[in-house]
Amino acid sequence: MADRKTNEVASLELGLKNVNLERTGDGYFVGSNYPIDARLAKEETEFDLNDPGQSPNARRVRWNQLMRENKGKIDVAAGQRFLADHLDTFENKIDPNERTLCGHIDLSARGSQPWQPPYGIAGAVQSKVTDAAMAEQMSLTSALGHACGIHFRAAEHLVRHPEFAWQKDNLRDMPSRPWTTFTSAR
Ligand SMILES: [Zn+2]
Repeated sequence: MADRKTNEVASLELGLKNVNLERTGDGYFVGSNYPIDARLAKEETEFDLNDPGQSPNARRVRWNQLMRENKGKIDVAAGQRFLADHLDTFENKIDPNERTLCGHIDLSARGSQPWQPPYGIAGAVQSKVTDAAMAEQMSLTSALGHACGIHFRAAEHLVRHPEFAWQKDNLRDMPSRPWTTFTSAR
């Protein structure tokens, strides 16, 4: 959450037993499907916060790297770059897979356990970025498909990974579309 009038951002982690609210006027919050609070993680999930190869943990590391490296110069264009980022912090190399902010589980021999099998058809396929000035105008930028420009082609994926043939009748292409600015009607 953000309040552009007070220049404050907040993070609410809403568990069943643990509810954690953090606020800051000069910091940031990031997220990538991990429980933030160690106590909440232990009491309410089976998630291992200490496994750096897990997709949410690897992406958490990358988010914090990008926040440090870009401190004071994060704008909408930077946000768009971050969401198209392909650095795998576990292997420390550029490789679009389940550990990258621009998630490509369908390209990963690991998939994303226990959620997706190897080459499971999932990933980051809709991205949004806004800033305070745009939010004031009820406006945001959004990209459909992978933000990096890589297209998902259903037929090609099924040829390479016939174990998903059962999805054939319903599986569609997910072409990557350009960042587009949306503004509410006044
Ligand atoms: Zn990508």
